[in-house]
Amino acid sequence: MNAVFHHKNSSPKGLVLRISFNHFSFLLNKLVNEWEKIVVFCTFGFVEFCIHQQHFTTSTAMFNLILFGPPGSGKGTQSEKLMARYSLKHLSTGDLLRSEITRQTPLGMEAKAIMDRGELVPDEVVIGMIQSCMDQVPNVPGFLFDGFPRTAAQAVALDHLLQQKNAPIGVMLALQVGEEELVSRLMKRGETSGRSDDTNEQVIRARIAEYHKKTTAVADHYRQFNKVVDIAGEGSIDEIFDRLCSEIDSRK
Ligand code: ADP
Repeated sequence: MNAVFHHKNSSPKGLVLRISFNHFSFLLNKLVNEWEKIVVFCTFGFVEFCIHQQHFTTSTAMFNLILFGPPGSGKGTQSEKLMARYSLKHLSTGDLLRSEITRQTPLGMEAKAIMDRGELVPDEVVIGMIQSCMDQVPNVPGFLFDGFPRTAAQAVALDHLLQQKNAPIGVMLALQVGEEELVSRLMKRGETSGRSDDTNEQVIRARIAEYHKKTTAVADHYRQFNKVVDIAGEGSIDEIFDRLCSEIDSRK
């Protein structure tokens, strides 16, 4: 310190310059002595930043869900409740097709004949419908796919669409219901739903057979990524809903 004050250049400007220089060399000295601590501090800071960043990304990322199961397994009923709880955008290919039929569009007219036989509408038709619906709602917390995908080709197409959004399927929840229970539920629904494919037992059984023939390949597709969870689909609506929610909550 003495050297700072008892210097040949004792003008105020020289004094300020010397004090500044001394401060600077003191800091530089400290920096060199404590560089290890500084490196550790910066590393921790960086790691913490990454964890926060990751948490932020996970908590705001889309959560996409497939509700899967044979006709009459309760997908429509449970979708309503899931949409309300998780603010998901519901995409049901069955509903989309029925809306085309109501509006008597060429696509609807073509689809009606196929649906009345209990068969599946061509892949390219439903994939096109899903794609345009997804494009219409770019900012949603997630999609709830109901009745889609129904074939392996649809599953591959869906994965591709979601890959573009960097938001894959979170989980596929597969409702399990016995065939006789399904037939009785659908016949009962046919009394009030006005759905022509719900009134004829033969058509109902054809839809269930079609499900086993083509649609179970979709579950196999997602099983390879460990994304399928079987859910008992018999019991009260609320019991089944609770089973679905606890699976979703454990994965979100
Ligand atoms: P359900 O599950 O009771 O059969 P949906 O409303 O999901 O009811 O489907 C009704 C009909 O619409 C099906 O039988 C089929 O003909 C047609 N459909 C719905 N979704 C698809 C799809 N993803 N691929 C092909 N056809 C479909």
